[in-house]
Order: sequence, then structure tokens, then C-alpha cells
Amino acid sequence: MNHFQRKKGVLHAERISLEALAEAHGTPLYVYSTATLTRHWKVLHRSLAGIDHVVCYAVKANSNLAVLSLFARLGSGFDIVSGGELYRVLKAGGDPGKVVFSGVGKRDDEIAFALESGVRVLNVESAPELARVSIVARRMGVRAPIALRVNPDVDPKTHPYISTGLRENKFGVSIAEARRLYALAATDPALEIRGIACHIGSQITDLRPFLDAIARVRALAKDLATQGIRLGHLDVGGGLGITYRDEEPPHPDAYGAAIKKALTGWDGEVFLEPGRVLVGNAGVLVTRVLYVKKSGRKTFVVVDAAMNDLVRPSYYGAYHGIELAGAPRKDARELVCDVVGPICESSDFLAQKRRLPEPRPGDLLVVRSAGAYGFAMSSNYNARPRAAEVLVDGDRALVARKRETYADLVRGEQPLPEPGAVHRVRRMS
Ligand SMILES: *Cc1c(COP(=O)(O)O)cnc(C)c1O
Repeated sequence: MNHFQRKKGVLHAERISLEALAEAHGTPLYVYSTATLTRHWKVLHRSLAGIDHVVCYAVKANSNLAVLSLFARLGSGFDIVSGGELYRVLKAGGDPGKVVFSGVGKRDDEIAFALESGVRVLNVESAPELARVSIVARRMGVRAPIALRVNPDVDPKTHPYISTGLRENKFGVSIAEARRLYALAATDPALEIRGIACHIGSQITDLRPFLDAIARVRALAKDLATQGIRLGHLDVGGGLGITYRDEEPPHPDAYGAAIKKALTGWDGEVFLEPGRVLVGNAGVLVTRVLYVKKSGRKTFVVVDAAMNDLVRPSYYGAYHGIELAGAPRKDARELVCDVVGPICESSDFLAQKRRLPEPRPGDLLVVRSAGAYGFAMSSNYNARPRAAEVLVDGDRALVARKRETYADLVRGEQPLPEPGAVHRVRRMS
């Protein structure tokens, strides 16, 4: 369910047509729907009614301040993977007491920033990281709240690039290693054991892997309890998939119900780290057709959005639905085409071999399900200013991020000084 629907044939974001938004804000343009974001968050939250839980939105999926502050107002927690994401959450008015800090490569300054800010827990992913957290906490004279992220070695049956819970992945520690590290942490006065975490991958469309992971984590928690190590929370991670094309992921209600069942008898808190499922279908990318180019038997629809704006198709071979924003023309024939951007890479496409009503230059195309890992993974490759982002609420649109300018592209850079200038380049030695 999302609030991007056609009215008299014209695609709208809530009550504003995407054509009007493109006219006002230019293209390429990311458009998010407040009603959809709100609805998704509330549905997931309610699916866990009756158990003590915190929905910690995974910031990396879409870290725009407007999106973060919307979730913060709903009472959301946050799952972060960097100091920069913590900074964003705090800027957006998020409660640090509901922040969990994941990631395999936390630097000392990021650990210190998290401890200073009073995050709920650091999800520790290795023995050397546990040692670093202890050192930083001792230096600051505080106790660091920690959980271990265990790698339950289950196959989430998703794309290899977004699978994280297999033994061969870089994430988390094995169950055996977790046992050893919990025992170690229990004797370290700079560490306070809070809970246990897992996260097995992304775009998972089957409940089984989630339930297997929870069962393994619970077995470990039970073991630890017999050794006097009590865990206050169990973090089940994120990873619930969405429909891009014909996937049939479980509804969040079914997901919540299954998790509740798997956690029967668990008397601690439960944390969730959903990203994609909250924001994926709450956003679209609007792009204008520049040219329709015929080349041999192929037709390329060249648009003004590219892989720097939305990298998922070229990076993961991901599928995104693409439609015309306007009402289809009566005389339009269907054509099979590649929708490509202006970037100088053959992998710069948004869709391949796609059937579309033949567009004309100036038409608007809408790339669906672009709210997650869309803008967040964008770059300035080919010196392309990044797209604007707007958040629609009913008949109002907030510019959540201004379109970048050419000046933004070179911020912080400088050309070489004039030859012979007083400010010589300092010699390295
Ligand atoms: C990416 C990530 C998530 C969110 O994954 P989704 O598939 O977007 O739900 C949650 N937890 C951790 C640790 C992550 O790295």
C-alpha cells in the first residue's frame, strides 16, 4: 500500500501530481510520501503490539533529515552504522536512548561520539572491536553498553551482495566466538552487557530464515543465562523485503506475528532494525526523457537520471518498475527499450529490455520503489549535482534537500596555487 496513485490517468504523490512537482522542483527528483512513511512505520509497530519492543529504523536506507524527523516524531528508534548517521539522527531530533550502533568498522572517534551521546547499545562485531570499545570507554570513564552481533549462519536466500548472516560474510561473530566474548565482557568493568543482536541480510521475502536466526540466537541466550549472563534485549535485525516486481514478501503483520511467536517466553525487550520495508515503496524517482535513440535493433530511452542518482539497477541488477507520469497517449505504441542515463558507463541503466508506451522527449518517467537505497547511495560521478528530494504531505511539498549546484560540486576543493605563489605546497617529510 502506498500513496502514489493515478487520478484521471495522471500519477500523483498523495494530492500533488508528479508533473506539478517536476515543474516546480526540476528533475531528476526524489519524491517521498509522508502518509506512506507514517503508515509503514505504524503497521510494523502495531504488528508487535503486546511485546516490549523498539522499532529502530535503519538510517542507511534513507537518511534525509525530514524522513528521520518524521520517524522520530512517531517515537522511532534508529539503527546507525556510522558517526555521520548518529549526527543525522541527533540533528533530526532522534532520541539517542533509542539508537543502536551496528557496523564492522567503528573508529575510536565514532565509539566515543556514541558513548558521549548516550546511545542505547553498541552492536559489537568482533573480538578486536570489543577490546577497542573497552579502551575508549575506560579512557572516558564510562561503561559502554554492548551487545554482540552474532552471525547465526543461516541463508537468507537473497542477492549475495545483501546477504550478511552466512559464515563467509564479514558481519558479526560466530555463536562459539560470541560465547567466549560474552564471558570476557562479563569480567570487564568498562563494559556493560545489554543484549544480543543479529541481522542476516536484506530484501528477504521468506519468514523461515528470520525464524531460524531467532531460534539460534535464543538458544545461545539460554546458554548464557545458565552462566549468569542475562541479556536484556534481543535485536532481530532488519531485512524484510518489499515488492519491486513480482516478489511476495510476507506482510509486516505476518512478519510481526511470526516474530512474536518465535519470541514466546522471552521476557526481555525486542529491537527491530527495518530499513527498506519502511521507506522503499514510500519514494519514487522522477526523471525527464531527453532523447529516444534508435541504434540498430535497439531503442534507448535516454533520461536525465543516471546510475549516480539510483545505482541499484547497475550495482545489483535490481528491478524497478518504470511508468509514464502522465496519462498514456491513445496513439502510443509499445516498445521494448533500455532506459539509460547520460553517464559514460555501459552499466548506466535504470532498466533493460523494458516494455513501455513509446515516450517522447520531455515526457516524465517515474521509477518506482526508490525510497530505500536510492538517494542514500547516490554520488556525484561525472560531476553531476545530486537530485533534489521533496517530501509530500497531502497537498503540500517540503523541499527535504535542495538540488545541488555546480558550486556544491567543488566545495572543499581548490586548484593548484599559481606557480611561484607564496603559499607553497608543503613538502612531505
Ligand atoms: C542494512 C541494515 C539493516 C536494514 O536492512 P533492510 O534490509 O533495509 O531492512 C538493519 N540492520 C543492519 C545492521 C544493517 O546493516
